Parts: sequence; C-alpha cells; structure tokens
Amino acid sequence: MSSVTRSTFDEVMVPNYQPAALIPVRGQGSRLWDQQGREYLDFACGIAVTGLGHAHPRLLSVLAEQAGRLWHLSNVMTNEPALRLARRLTDLTFADKVFFCNSGAEANEAAFKLARRWGSTQFGPHKSTIVSFYNAFHGRTLFTVSVGGQAKYTKGFEPLPGGIRHVAFNDLAALEAVMDDSVCAVVMEPVQGEGGVLPATREFAQGVRALCDRFKALLVYDEVQTGNGRSGTLFAYEQYGVTPDVLTTAKGLGGGFPIGAMLTTDALAGVLAFGTHGSTYGGNPLACAVADAVVEEIARPELLRNVGERAAQLTARLEEIGARYGLFSTTRGMGLLIGAPLSDAWKGRAKDVVNAALAEGLWLLVAGPDVLRFAPALNISEADVAEGLRRFERACAVLTSASPS
Ligand SMILES: *Cc1c(COP(=O)(O)O)cnc(C)c1O
Repeated sequence: MSSVTRSTFDEVMVPNYQPAALIPVRGQGSRLWDQQGREYLDFACGIAVTGLGHAHPRLLSVLAEQAGRLWHLSNVMTNEPALRLARRLTDLTFADKVFFCNSGAEANEAAFKLARRWGSTQFGPHKSTIVSFYNAFHGRTLFTVSVGGQAKYTKGFEPLPGGIRHVAFNDLAALEAVMDDSVCAVVMEPVQGEGGVLPATREFAQGVRALCDRFKALLVYDEVQTGNGRSGTLFAYEQYGVTPDVLTTAKGLGGGFPIGAMLTTDALAGVLAFGTHGSTYGGNPLACAVADAVVEEIARPELLRNVGERAAQLTARLEEIGARYGLFSTTRGMGLLIGAPLSDAWKGRAKDVVNAALAEGLWLLVAGPDVLRFAPALNISEADVAEGLRRFERACAVLTSASPS
C-alpha cells in the first residue's frame, strides 16, 4: 500500500472540500487518533452522524454479521433488515410508511417530489410551489440546494428549478404573506443546523402547521441533522407539539453508515405509486441492519436522558468559558446540537477557533463563519465532556492572548 498524506488530497481530489491538516485513522467511542498517533476528542461526530461514537461494539457485530450474509439486492427484491427498520421507524414515529435512500439530500429530494406529485394529482398542476426559509440547508442536489435558502450554494449552477419561495425563519407574518393555493409544501428544519444552529420557536412551529392546514400544504420536517436522538428526543418534532406530514432524516440514522429515509403517512405514501421514484441502493441490507441497531440503541430512555444531561453540562460550562474569554455570551440549540454565536469582536472567525481547538486535541464544527457548533456523541460520558471542555478552554486562552485586544 502506498502512503498517503494530506497533500495527496490536493493532488487527486476535486477541491470542493478543504479538509483539516490531520488524517484520522482510527476511532473508539468519543476519541480519534491520527496518522501520527495523536489523540483527539470528538465533539463533531462527522457532522452529527456518529451518534453512538466510533467502533460501537453492537454496531460492529451487526455490520459484520450482515456482511457475512447479504450485501445487496436492489429493490427488485425486498430484504429483512429494511423491513425491520421500516417497522421500527413507523412504530416509533407518526409515520406509517418509509422510503429509504442514501443521504439527506436524497431524502429531501423524495419529499419534494412527493409534495409536487401530491399537489399535481390532488389539486392540479398549479399546486407546485415549495416554500422554505432563508439560511435553510436541505442538501446539494440541484433541487435541494435550490430549496435551501443560501444563495452562495446555488451561485453559478443556474438555471435553477423554479416554483420555490424563500422567507425569513421564525417570522410567521412573512410566511403568511407568501402562502396561497399554489403552495404544495412548506419545508423547515426544527433547528436550522448549517444555518447557525438556530431553533424554531414553539409559536413559529405551531403557526407553520396552522398555515399549512389553512392553505392545504404539506408540512415537511427536515430532521436530517436533528433526528435520531440528537435533539434529546428521537425526533425534534416531538418537542414542538407539531406533527409533520413528511419527515426526512439521514446523518445520525446509520451512525456513520450511509443511509437516508423519508417518513410519511398512509394517505400520502400512495402518491409515490409503483414506478414513480426509486434508488438502486435505497434500503440496502448493510445500511438497514446497522441503522436498525442504531435506532434501537438511541430510542432507549437512558440514552436520551444522557443527551439532556450532557447538554446541560456542556452549555453551562461553555457559557462560562465564552464569557470569560469574550468569545460568545450565549449558546442555543436542542439536545446535543449546540451553537455558540460569536461576539462581534470574533465574527467571521469560527474557523480560527476550530483550528485552535484542534491544536489542543478537540474536534468541533462551525455552523457558518460566525457560529461554533458542538455535536458530540449521544452516549458521551461526563468525563469526556469535561475533558473536551478543558481542551476548549485552553484553545480559547491561546487564541485570546494571541489576538490584539
Ligand atoms: C446535512 C443535511 C442535509 C444533507 O444531507 P446529505 O447527507 O449531506 O445529503 C440536509 N438537510 C439538513 C438539515 C442537513 O443538516
């Protein structure tokens, strides 16, 4: 095997990413080790994906067992792991039916196609408008990136699909102003993740549901990032007293094995009749076997209780550290999806803070240029949170003494 380093990336990879200087080669629980054997605490989870940490023993054995049995069939034949996972997800949520795919973008693509087809078959071709929110993120396919509300991600990719309206998040009056009979769906993240870890208010979430009902539009919850225990409940909608018509998820669902899902009701599922949509890998037995174990582990009350307890521990100490070093004064989010919006003096420098933390052996994330994002494993221990916070504080100390005050 030839040796590869970070500089290999620049030689052979399309430059759409700018990965860190280190290359992790092994993980265990909430820890990672790089090529040089340096150890890191993981408060990023590969962007809120590895919710049960790295090398979870149950996931390892489930994956190995399924790998020895059957890898792939396509949807010309169904398979036991997919059926078990669909049964589990429908038992645990509002949904009656599941469509499997391989990523968050594909789950949203399916949801938007369902909404369009529902609109056109139930009401006529005029009912095709999708409403979403500025700073939303729904994936990188052309349709999902267009529905997402960040112009920097669509620039240069025109012509974009039409029939999409954007309004301000958490602004019910703005939403009401763009609602009419042409709207087939409103799509929202209960917590805008990439857009800065910004939770919907309860009044807003309930108001969106009411407007969808009034204008006969579907309510689509994008829980790609908030789902699978990240928010402190299996899905975040449970905490808003709102039931969506369609829910999409991915990220944490496979604990690191790629899988996405769209969940919906019996009444709507029929819109995607035989032949209307599909995916070769969707419902792949390896992915579904792992995800079934992930969801079973995450739905345990002890695990969800740990999310709440570690979130309280993390936010309390983070707010002290943020205030002490003047980086930020508050945190926001839900469960173990925590954002720290940087103070004016540090605006635009989230990446610098992440790099300083990496130098101290802690991996965290940005959510845009002005917000730090903390997304540790849902089963992280109290001691690992405390150690990560010590490393974070050291990074803040280094950064602030190095900066001109
Ligand atoms: C990450 C993310 C997506 C896109 O998921 P991919 O698996 O990268 O396609 C969509 N919506 C939200 C809310 C996300 O956080």
